[in-house]
Parts: sequence; C-alpha cells; structure tokens
Amino acid sequence: MARYTGSVCRLCRREGVKLYLKGERCYTDKCAIDRRAYAPGQHGQARKKVSEYGTQLREKQKARRVYGVLEKQFRGYYEEASRRKGITGETLLQILESRLDNVVFRSGFAASRPEARQIVKHGHILVNGKRVDIPSYLTKPGDVIAFSDKAQEVPRVKELLEAAESKSVIAWLERDLNTKSARIVRVPSRDEIDVPVAEQMIVELYSR
Ligand code: SF4
Repeated sequence: MARYTGSVCRLCRREGVKLYLKGERCYTDKCAIDRRAYAPGQHGQARKKVSEYGTQLREKQKARRVYGVLEKQFRGYYEEASRRKGITGETLLQILESRLDNVVFRSGFAASRPEARQIVKHGHILVNGKRVDIPSYLTKPGDVIAFSDKAQEVPRVKELLEAAESKSVIAWLERDLNTKSARIVRVPSRDEIDVPVAEQMIVELYSR
C-alpha cells in the first residue's frame, strides 16, 4: 500500500493540531506547529470562512493523517464500519486502532505511528508467533504482538525497548517487557482513543 512521503509537519500545520508524527521531536521546541501555528503555503495566514463541508473534510483528513492511511483504504474502513453493528464513527476509530502499526505504537514500542509502520514493514513484529510485515493488518482481542528475537538485536529497537520502560501502556493492552510483547485485551472504547477527531463529521461527509 502506498503512503504519503511529503513533509509530515506540514500535515499538522494544515490541520492546526499536533498529530505527533515525528516521535520525540514533537515534544521539543523544534515542533513546527509551535513555531509557525498557521497553515502552510502562500495563503496559510489568510482568514478563511470554512463551510460545513470544509469542516467535515478537515476532520476526515485529520483522521487519515493521524493513522497514515490513504483515501481509498480509509474509505474501505468506513464502509466496513458502516456494515458492522454499533455507532459507525466509533467503529471506524476502533478499526483504525486495531491496525498492527497502531498497536505497536500504542504498546510503547515505537516513538510515533510512522516509526511503528517502518518497524512492521522491516519484519520485526510477530503476531501470535508468526511474522507479519503488513502495517494495515487488523488485530483482534486475544492477539499477541512481539518483537522477533532478531529484532531485539537491532540498536534502535533496543533503544525503544529501554524507553518503553518509562512509558505507561493504555488500558486495552497488556504489555510484558520481559517477553517484549503486548496482548490486546479488548476493543478500546471511544474515550480510550485520544485522537482529536470528531468522527461523526466523517460519517456525515461520507453520507452526503
Ligand atoms: Fe506535528 Fe510532530 Fe512536526 Fe510538531 S514536530 S508539527 S507535532 S509532526
């Protein structure tokens, strides 16, 4: 699956919020949104009137950018969410949270979702003991993700595992730093998904 390869800080500036796409840098004073808190481009500082459609579109783009998903795949997630029982917007976020790259990030095994994606693509992650190198792989409750033995020798992975010791882990995951693994306990509820997105607007946008 293709991915966005441009400047990620530009995406945060476009959405007007920190999307935390650069790991440690996002928490320093080098963060672009702290330095230039306006949209990128020639007209970035112009005052604009935003339509209802524009607001809905921004919410959808923000969600796509947080999880690093391109339009076609995102639309597929929305269609899957609307087929499932429950509140479509919430289900959409739950599907996005179950992506393997997101679970690696949520387990504290990567500094950002883009880094988690790279870790998965490099074949460093096992799901239930089998190597899975597809970042969009959808995990389910009961699955166990772990670093492979070989991955644990990689200097950056060692660094991340050391850093993970001081990071707490989200309630729907159970992490074991001895085995360098995490188990998905359950599907997260909406209030456990701390993404700054009004998902109902995404549903309204796609229902137009
Ligand atoms: Fe966004 Fe992080 Fe760049 Fe700041 S440093 S603009 S939070 S990606």
